[in-house]
Amino acid sequence: MFGKLKKASNGKLLEPRTIGIPRALLYYLYPGLWETFLKELGMQVTVSAPGTRKTIEQAGLISESEHCLPVKLFDAHLAELAGLVELIFVPRILSTLPGHIACPKLGALPDCARAQCPGGITIITVDINENRTPLTESMAQLGRLLNADETVIHQATERALSALRRARAVPTAPRKPDALNFLVIGHPYNLHDSYLSGPILQKIESLGVNAELVSFADRTALPEPVKWDTCSIMHDRLQRLVPSEWDGVIHLSSFNCGCDSIVSTLYQEVLREKEIPCMTLVLDEHAGQAGVDTRLEAFVDSIKDQHEHAATCH
Ligand code: SF4
Repeated sequence: MFGKLKKASNGKLLEPRTIGIPRALLYYLYPGLWETFLKELGMQVTVSAPGTRKTIEQAGLISESEHCLPVKLFDAHLAELAGLVELIFVPRILSTLPGHIACPKLGALPDCARAQCPGGITIITVDINENRTPLTESMAQLGRLLNADETVIHQATERALSALRRARAVPTAPRKPDALNFLVIGHPYNLHDSYLSGPILQKIESLGVNAELVSFADRTALPEPVKWDTCSIMHDRLQRLVPSEWDGVIHLSSFNCGCDSIVSTLYQEVLREKEIPCMTLVLDEHAGQAGVDTRLEAFVDSIKDQHEHAATCH
């Protein structure tokens, strides 16, 4: 931990001035929130650069081989920030949704970050446990750790929450009458990392499919039967799908994801009952786009064939 920080007369911070946010996990779970909050406190915020092939290669080199891809990418983004900023923000994420728990890997992130970069960086952390503590209180704790004034913290919190609401309000594409309509599900850091999901979404679109991404703005999911927060939101969404409105679901999963290995079966059960076809694409650092494209083409073709067959029979 660091000592008392200097403040300007307006209550904002004088030093340290620079703080980094890894563009991974926490960044996508709370899009827009941390960046806005820390800037409003008066910090100079650096978000690591959007992922590229090099980020994935770096992740493969420096991270534990058994980690899931999002955690490996977190390590690569962390390494990118080391040396560029005075502090790096890595919260201990225990729950992002009341009544639920987060993936256990997210609870260990600050410790893993310190182990990953011994002596090289200063990690600043707070617990995010929306099960017990409102997010606004966790933000206030972070502001106090940075020695910001309560009025500055309050204003920064309001602005950051507005940014979060805007970022989570994913616009839904207008439906085209003759197109297939797919829902794409996956953890926010899979869906919204443009390097991971971009080529897949572009391919889906090129096949004449309307793709809607699952939204994490809806906070009404109950913790049964799925206790993991983001998984529960996705399961809840699938349960509410009206079969006549959806032609398919694509699940972007991560290699070595413990949560997905369990909940995928539950997703499939829901979709089987509704007779909505589903395909899971597993993201890992070795996945080639050509193989993914072939699978997507086969999936879309099989659904089109089914529709044509059903139309002929009627
Ligand atoms: S939920 Fe899965 S992908 Fe996400 S951090 Fe946990 S193991 Fe990794």
